[in-house]
Amino acid sequence: MNSPSRVSRVAVIGGGIFGVSSAVQLARRGVSVILVTECALASEASGRSLSWLNSSRMRSAEYHQLRMVGIDRYRTLAVKHPNAAWLRFDGGLTWDSDDESNEIAKVYAHERSIGYDAQLLAADQVAVVTPGVDARAITRQGAIFNPGEGWVDLPSLIGVLIEEFSALGGEVITHAGRASVDVTGGRATGIVTADGRRIAADAVLLAAGAAVPKIVAEIGCHIADATPISLLVKTKPIDVALRAVLNTPRVAVRPTPTGSLVLDSAWSEEEVVRRPDDTYEVKDSTVQGLLAEASAVLEGNPNLVLDSYGVGPKPIPGDGEPVFGELPGISGYHVAFSHSGATLGLIAGELLADEIVTGVPHPLLATFRPGRFA
Ligand SMILES: Cc1cc2nc3c(=O)[nH]c(=O)nc-3n(C[C@H](O)[C@H](O)[C@H](O)COP(=O)(O)OP(=O)(O)OC[C@H]3O[C@@H](n4cnc5c(N)ncnc54)[C@H](O)[C@@H]3O)c2cc1C
Repeated sequence: MNSPSRVSRVAVIGGGIFGVSSAVQLARRGVSVILVTECALASEASGRSLSWLNSSRMRSAEYHQLRMVGIDRYRTLAVKHPNAAWLRFDGGLTWDSDDESNEIAKVYAHERSIGYDAQLLAADQVAVVTPGVDARAITRQGAIFNPGEGWVDLPSLIGVLIEEFSALGGEVITHAGRASVDVTGGRATGIVTADGRRIAADAVLLAAGAAVPKIVAEIGCHIADATPISLLVKTKPIDVALRAVLNTPRVAVRPTPTGSLVLDSAWSEEEVVRRPDDTYEVKDSTVQGLLAEASAVLEGNPNLVLDSYGVGPKPIPGDGEPVFGELPGISGYHVAFSHSGATLGLIAGELLADEIVTGVPHPLLATFRPGRFA
């Protein structure tokens, strides 16, 4: 039994994973919720995400703990949906370049020290553990296989969550344009939609992805922002043996529910040009280069053909760590702004809903407060 709610009506801005996950968690707690989003659901980062579920490599202990709890919630969800093609735990495989930046030995030692399931493999050992990888692409320092990792297709997950939300009586308004938060007398009192409609609420969750820092800046709050432009390329369906998520020096690759692959990388993101009118130019050479890099790490070096790509901001706070919780000095105004929103999607919604409903700060979010940028 959950604690009685101190709020009866909550308005959520944003139809990405954080907004939808929080909305369904609030509805489960008996709160009346309205979710308003600018375009369709999953129209932004959540619709063009690599969505690798992981806590690999090195980060703060608090962030690692939150990610691990996040993966735990996906494990529970996977048991409820045993045949889901949109949520898989087939592991992750990573290796680094053969130069001084190679951290594989250090990362392996760290992961072992914190109990993160990791196997250090030489190139010729990889096929025994996970299929579909061209061993010749793996550098001499070896690769790390993390069996506990997986991936999720966020638009599918959002579809599953929104179905439950609607069944619980939650209201969704899509294609609503840009909503704003109504702050009166030092507290959030509701939202105002683009067409001027005022929706009163006891609390508001701003889960507007990359737009969060700009929106809170309008009321004088500072959240440091390091959001880059990202590019996710999707191939046409192809018959490959790959099951794991690959994170390699030149490309990251993951399977999808429809037999396509999705790809991204740091170098290809940097080649995207943002035009003055806020549209993007993606060069054909970048897309073809990414397809070629992916082919080179896959067994048999298959011919990968472009299906589509998604381009736009990837929400990342200035210090790289998540931003969750109430704004300092403005009661009832909660925010969610983070990278790794696939890994954190379920747990963030759960903990934010708990805080909104009970008013009690959750210790797992203690180091991720928006107030740290003040
Ligand atoms: C290329 C790429 C690769 C990634 N890889 C991974 C990964 O491997 N693992 C991982 O865990 N995470 C990954 N992420 C991160 C993860 O996908 C994001 O953190 C997550 O999707 C963010 O969700 P969100 O709900 O905050 O934002 P979004 O999905 O961007 O949703 C925000 C929503 O708010 C709406 N909105 C904005 N402003 C307003 C407004 N004023 N009024 C109404 N609506 C508004 C937008 O239209 C949008 O629908 C990746 C992201 C990208 C882009």
